[in-house]
Amino acid sequence: MAQLLDGRALAKDIKAGLSAQVARLHKEFAQVPRMVNIMIGNDDGSCAYANSQKKVAQAIGIEYELVNLPLDITQEHLSAEISRFNADPQVNGIMLHKPVPEHIDYNSIANLVQIEKDLEGINVANIGKMLLGETTIIPCTPQAVMEHIKSTGVDIRGKEAVIVGASGIVGKPLSILLVEQYVTVTVCHIATSEAGRLEEHVRRADILVVAVGRARLIPGLWIKEGAIVIDVGINRVESGIVGDVDFDAAKERAAYITPVPGGVGPVTVCMLMKNAVEAFKLQNIKRRDA
Ligand code: NAD
Repeated sequence: MAQLLDGRALAKDIKAGLSAQVARLHKEFAQVPRMVNIMIGNDDGSCAYANSQKKVAQAIGIEYELVNLPLDITQEHLSAEISRFNADPQVNGIMLHKPVPEHIDYNSIANLVQIEKDLEGINVANIGKMLLGETTIIPCTPQAVMEHIKSTGVDIRGKEAVIVGASGIVGKPLSILLVEQYVTVTVCHIATSEAGRLEEHVRRADILVVAVGRARLIPGLWIKEGAIVIDVGINRVESGIVGDVDFDAAKERAAYITPVPGGVGPVTVCMLMKNAVEAFKLQNIKRRDA
């Protein structure tokens, strides 16, 4: 029976560490990190998520501002807002809440965010730095996955990891972080399934990370005995929220497994806060030492 990788417990430890760091920064700079979350529209789901981010930020001592913009905002107006926050020395970190309306080009807006304020680590400069191993601001969800893996205490060097899902915010950056740790990585995606080869890859995984968004895509029988299983997927079904892995069956074979909900999600929010602290350090320590 697998050991549960409890995201809420891990998040509690991370929050305690970040609070201590923020207190030290406050002592040194008489200021705390300040982040803004730019949200276009105000649907209930996004507002609830932003509220939970705000609570975590406040518990750590980070100032959190939610900036609500209208759904019909133009690309030009949104760009101007980003420029305003880039120029404001009181703002240390900027995130752009997803989803954005269809008429907004998300990538080009993400690339306008100053690289030292890019809380989600998603602009091309930060992704490029990560590829080169200059890992200062790393995308939040891959970082949360790495924290879960680290929390097992397992030596992962030379192990086989299989990532299912190759998106730009989860699967692809995660593959880089794992390679940095000398893990052998296979990245699967829709075409792997279409070719009927998903099972053979998953069965090999010492570390399996699934980030697709399809309820119970991975049957328990595919899990290698003793594997570390990290389920990033979030799927709303009749019975509530489930992941991409058939949890009940998988936990009988895995050594470690994240639940959904309560696994990767709570740690991802903490990684956003960690990035806010890193951003503050990048800006203030650089300014002080200049
Ligand atoms: P995405 O839609 O951008 O990417 C999905 C990926 O899955 C693609 O690479 C696609 O090729 C692949 N895929 C689709 N169907 C497949 C199949 N049948 N077999 C194999 N691969 C398949 O999604 P995303 O934004 O990366 O999110 C993935 C999931 O992770 C979603 O459920 C999302 O809600 C969740 N998520 C959770 C967190 C968190 O913090 N817990 C953060 C981000 C995303």
